[in-house]
Amino acid sequence: MPPPLPDWDRVVIKVGSALIAPDDRGCSTTHLLPIARFIIESRHQGKEVILVSSGAVAAGLAEQDRDASPGLSIPERQALAATGQPLLMAHWRRLFDAPCAQVLLTYDDLQRRSRFVNAKNTIQELLDRDALPIVNENDTVATEELQVGDNDNLAAYVAVLAEADLLVICSDVDGLYDADPRTTPDAEHRPVVNRITDDIYDMVGGANRAVARGGMHTKVEAAEKATDRGIDTVLVNGTKGDHLDALGRDEMPGTLFRRVDRPLSARKHWMLHALPTAGRIVVDDGAAQALRNGGASLLPSGVVSVGGTFAQGDAVAVMVATDDGPSARIAKGITQYGTDALRRIQGRQSHAIADILGTAPADHVIHRDDLVLVD
Ligand code: GLU
Repeated sequence: MPPPLPDWDRVVIKVGSALIAPDDRGCSTTHLLPIARFIIESRHQGKEVILVSSGAVAAGLAEQDRDASPGLSIPERQALAATGQPLLMAHWRRLFDAPCAQVLLTYDDLQRRSRFVNAKNTIQELLDRDALPIVNENDTVATEELQVGDNDNLAAYVAVLAEADLLVICSDVDGLYDADPRTTPDAEHRPVVNRITDDIYDMVGGANRAVARGGMHTKVEAAEKATDRGIDTVLVNGTKGDHLDALGRDEMPGTLFRRVDRPLSARKHWMLHALPTAGRIVVDDGAAQALRNGGASLLPSGVVSVGGTFAQGDAVAVMVATDDGPSARIAKGITQYGTDALRRIQGRQSHAIADILGTAPADHVIHRDDLVLVD
């Protein structure tokens, strides 16, 4: 018996290109009517809905009379998205009586506090006015380094930003399987995932469509981002109208990724999931124990080596030195020292920092409050 859908008041629902453009280009209504019905009925019940919709590139392809190909360059995608985005909005608008509001975001908007707050306020205002926010990545201006890249992760960021209590990801698969059901007929369906571990990532593969950016991997990443902040996440098959109807009856047709028991604070979530990781600091066992058990800050004496190039204030991964090289990441934190300075003080006592560097802005490398442990 699948579990019931957890109670919710505000949902972010993500609709992928596979549903909007089943033939990889254009905008189709084939799969959108049950999704629209779910949205309309939820709104009638007084619940709040934010839609994250892909499909701008696919709509642009049809408008420019081009075929989908996996090797689209960035300028090509940007031009196609610019052409297709207004068509995508018009397509959705036909399905609702409510005003539909276009919200285009980039990674920068999610990473920088002031822009994050602006986006959050706008979405709140739209909900207060009974509009339906329809979010997409601003593909036209987002370059490779500055883009979220796929709308699964974008939807998770939006769920966090909008303080939603449910994230629904609609794609063309029935949920999570322990193997790829398209190639492994006896693959087993997982109705519930209580914790997202490395095993879950090992089970899933990559993207397989020309216009969509995501695959099962990005869906699990999105679920991890959302559940870490206390947001239940469900993966449903949007090509099956009965999946959407079941959601409307508070049933759980696909896979439920349960929210964690102790969600991360907004700041720690931002550090772990929104800040890019600029490099790594490898620490000894003693330091790792102190971080894990004692709630300590990371001191230079525990640092064994430094990888990558980073500056003071950047976010870095913390790993433990083992005989086989650095372990998996045990924490992520904001460093008080850049690469060059840290190489000079690694392995040394804090009181020696001033002598070595001529200045000692902090006696720790990462302060406890600037550190998130991961397991
Ligand atoms: N933003 C892209 C679009 O609207 C889709 C990205 C994705 O498929 O995840 O075409």
